[in-house]
Amino acid sequence: MPAQGSPGDITFSTFIDSDSTLAAEADFPADAPAGSGKPGPRVRVNLAYAGSPNTDLTKLRNMVHEIGHTLGYRHTNWQGNEPVSAYGANLIPGTPSTDPASVMNGGTAGVSWAGFSTYDNVATRTLYPGTCLAANMSGHYQVQPYVTCTWSANPTGGTPPYLYSWMGTALTSSRTFLYSNPGSDFVMRLVVVDAIGRRDSVSQSVRVYQYGPPCA
Ligand SMILES: [Zn+2]
Repeated sequence: MPAQGSPGDITFSTFIDSDSTLAAEADFPADAPAGSGKPGPRVRVNLAYAGSPNTDLTKLRNMVHEIGHTLGYRHTNWQGNEPVSAYGANLIPGTPSTDPASVMNGGTAGVSWAGFSTYDNVATRTLYPGTCLAANMSGHYQVQPYVTCTWSANPTGGTPPYLYSWMGTALTSSRTFLYSNPGSDFVMRLVVVDAIGRRDSVSQSVRVYQYGPPCA
């Protein structure tokens, strides 16, 4: 990420901690050399961790979580559990004070990776603007049965050029999509892939209603 020093210089290692409920720990950017702009320098995995389940998916989520700490994220659920000091705690604009789906909740070492929450992504787009790919679409919320209407992709961030998959189609460079609906309500789905393979998706429910405008 451009806002951080490059290379990041994060060292992954193992250690043994007396706390068998601790899966891993990481440093914050404040632990990096002063003025370096680098992320937290260490992620350490506790070989004595005895939590269960401890699967590929929980391990993956734990690593995403720890890397999040190196980028400066505290625990989403810190309030009531952890002091503000010594690193400070700031609510990221646009995010709620609690988010059960956040990968940055503490005490979640047994949770399987299921992707970033909506607000995890808002947080990253806010702190690192311009770096995160965001798929956006414009189009119709209500259409007449079997009428062909046009939807458009309006991605932001990431690294152009973008490719698009509409309703599961093969990736195409076409930013617009003509779709003849099946005669009943449907969900318009868009996946955007940027030039370095980052992807984001968005969907929009569309009502099919014969007494409304053709493409509303
Ligand atoms: Zn943590």
